Amino acid sequence: MTSWQGKNITVAGLGVSGVSAARALAGLGAVVTVVDGGDSEGHRERAAELEAAGISVRLADAETLPEGTDLVVTSPGWKPDSPLFEAAAAAGVDVVGDVEIAWRLRGPDAAPWLAITGTNGKTTTTQMLASILKAAGLKTAAVGNIGTPIIDVVLGEEPYRDLDVLAVELSSYQLHWAPSLRVHSAAVLNLAPDHLDWHGSMEAYAADKGRIYEGNTVACVYNADAADNKATENLVMEADVEEGCRAIGFTLGAPGPSMLGVVDGILVDRAFVDDRQKNAQELAEVADVNPPAPHNIANALAAAALARAFGVKPSAVRDGLRAFRPDAHRVSHVDEVDGVTYVDDSKATNTHAAEASLAAFDPIVWIAGGLAKGATFDELVQRSAKRLRAAVLIGADRALIAEALARHAPQVPVVDLERTDTGAMLAAVREAARLAEPGDTVLLAPACASMDMFANYNKRGDAFADAVRELAAEKA
Ligand code: ADP
Repeated sequence: MTSWQGKNITVAGLGVSGVSAARALAGLGAVVTVVDGGDSEGHRERAAELEAAGISVRLADAETLPEGTDLVVTSPGWKPDSPLFEAAAAAGVDVVGDVEIAWRLRGPDAAPWLAITGTNGKTTTTQMLASILKAAGLKTAAVGNIGTPIIDVVLGEEPYRDLDVLAVELSSYQLHWAPSLRVHSAAVLNLAPDHLDWHGSMEAYAADKGRIYEGNTVACVYNADAADNKATENLVMEADVEEGCRAIGFTLGAPGPSMLGVVDGILVDRAFVDDRQKNAQELAEVADVNPPAPHNIANALAAAALARAFGVKPSAVRDGLRAFRPDAHRVSHVDEVDGVTYVDDSKATNTHAAEASLAAFDPIVWIAGGLAKGATFDELVQRSAKRLRAAVLIGADRALIAEALARHAPQVPVVDLERTDTGAMLAAVREAARLAEPGDTVLLAPACASMDMFANYNKRGDAFADAVRELAAEKA
């Protein structure tokens, strides 16, 4: 669709991305109707603001397709089998997401996109990439699934004017609804079961992630480590890319040709060097990665691969990694009390993430539990059992973790607090302190969502840090 003038666009969802899409498209002359199933005071307030800008809003009905719709623009959370989309399909009307709209709105001289997806590590890697690009003197921003709606970025609102390149985090939902996206280079960090209720199956989830590689022009970056069972490499093989686009692996081991990896504590590049059969280029030290946990070194390698694909020089990779500070609650060091280190990885909201952080410490007193979202814990416990000094369980689905521990790690002492109140975190930290020995790490890596006890994972991590502070004050 080249001109939006007079097109009838239905926007599904009155959230941040829906409002941004509605305003942008109305600004381009489209006739926009926003539909949303809600009808709360908040909804009505937002509706009134849009209506003042000439945009129609229909509340309390998320199902019927407005008459005459030419295109539906959906918000990421809406499931593919939503009745509105079924009605659109029946009427022969396309459904796309905000990323697709942003992609179509780019001007001819628009900044290229370096895109990142994966089950875990997306935000961290995208921010690392932006940090590296900035260290290279490029004008850039970490955008996408991170905060500012991508349409606003593409339209060049301040501070997004005249960027050289974008570091774009994309979720599987966004990729599902972005059929014509064709980026410069992209990385899929890892693939583990998540959001399967939305996608319907692991195959469908993987296929949506794999769309990020379609039409790449310079590099498709994949995870070459065996733990991922070639899942991301297979997605590269299946993708239809531009002539000359290269497959670039990253590994925590020594890299083969066309890979980035680690040799003797050094991050090295054997992909973007002359004569990659013989040569390797030093990029940075493992100690330059913050925090230097194995999964985060993998994130750094993926970010470095994308930056190198864009022509960034090695010293900027090092400087960018050194300058990078992770967001809160991602393997964050909280304090040391009586020789025991307390680490907050409240963002480990699924088993794949928790496994990564459990792999980074030894021995561990593990604080876990919350909402399991249909996950099972057997593999996580099996693979992590050797490192566990003890486990302290909280939250609604803690019994699932207790059962997995009983099955696969019967020697590990388990304290089940049988609590789901907010104050349980202080009790959990006290129990963990009692069980820990000097040199141990007490790790909050819940492997579960937080909403049974807290408003979100930030609040859960804050409660943990407050509890550790209280403990430290008691001991002082
Ligand atoms: P996302 O944006 O994909 O949710 P984040 O960068 O916010 O990812 O990290 C979320 C959590 O995932 C971290 O707290 C950590 O537990 C885990 N994690 C980060 N990177 C990886 C990785 N490469 N592999 C596995 N787990 C990871």
